[in-house]
Amino acid sequence: MPAKIQITEAYCVELEDIVSITEARRAFFSQPEPRARFTFQCSYSECMALNRRPSITAVNYASLPQDTYRAAHFRDPGVGHAPGCHWQGEEPAVSDQDLGGEATHKDREAKRKLHDFIDEFDPTAVKPKGGDGPSMNAGSEPAQGRGQGRSGVARGSSFSSRNRTSSFERLVEYYRNAHKDLPATEFFGLQLNVTGEGKMPLISYFPNISKATPESPNRVIHGGSRLEPRKGSGFMLWFIDRVDGKGVYLKVTNQEMDAYRFRGFFNSILAQEDADYFRVFGLGRLVLSDTGKSYRLEIEGLNHLTIFAAKKLQSKPEAQSLPRVESGV
Ligand SMILES: [Zn+2]
Repeated sequence: MPAKIQITEAYCVELEDIVSITEARRAFFSQPEPRARFTFQCSYSECMALNRRPSITAVNYASLPQDTYRAAHFRDPGVGHAPGCHWQGEEPAVSDQDLGGEATHKDREAKRKLHDFIDEFDPTAVKPKGGDGPSMNAGSEPAQGRGQGRSGVARGSSFSSRNRTSSFERLVEYYRNAHKDLPATEFFGLQLNVTGEGKMPLISYFPNISKATPESPNRVIHGGSRLEPRKGSGFMLWFIDRVDGKGVYLKVTNQEMDAYRFRGFFNSILAQEDADYFRVFGLGRLVLSDTGKSYRLEIEGLNHLTIFAAKKLQSKPEAQSLPRVESGV
């Protein structure tokens, strides 16, 4: 059965850039409060040339990503697109003649069930403009006079590469959704091509901290962690699980946080007082600390880190907006 193509990016009017839903969320939470919602339009160049650009609905991006919540995604009302808009098509049918045979076939079938999927992840690429996200000055002032909307259009025309990304957060979102929404057999069958390394099972690229090994090349190491009381703008998280009997921590210095334009995103997440623990996804490797008593998860930068507040038992309704702590419980 043909599946409609899922919108994986949209033009954000306020950010003046084409963004994925996770980039929109990071930018949204980096605004000072009260935070303004964004407006999204179809990123197809001919749709953007229309007087009335087709609008795209963004779901859940204005909610903090919780460990169990339904992930944010774009939804296309399907109204007013230019003829030939590539987002209006259907995913090509999966055929047995596809290169790679059975494994590829299973990989395709499973991915078609998701809002977004990724075939190739490039951990080395930097976004155009040398930035680390959509062009936005931490939301403190309206984007102006930068004239970067055009470069966004150019990016958006690369429709054929929509399932390749260098966005770490989008990769993590895809992994979490797939884990949650697909039966185990299909989830385990997912393949990921990592630029510079080649194809591997998605789960091999995402070792849980308990299975992480210090000799391993960079991987998305993830697991539950506890936050040390914060003193400055930086923070430190200790993983709950150990490696070789040693504790593992992740440290983000004050300087790193101060220099990061989306620090508001991390601050909002870490400020959730009702969290029982924080689930960390960091792309990097384990390095023995100077004392030799613990390991440090070394990541290249804050774009290779994402954090989710987690609760032990509770699963909240997904429709809720900003899950802010009001009761202090
Ligand atoms: Zn369109």
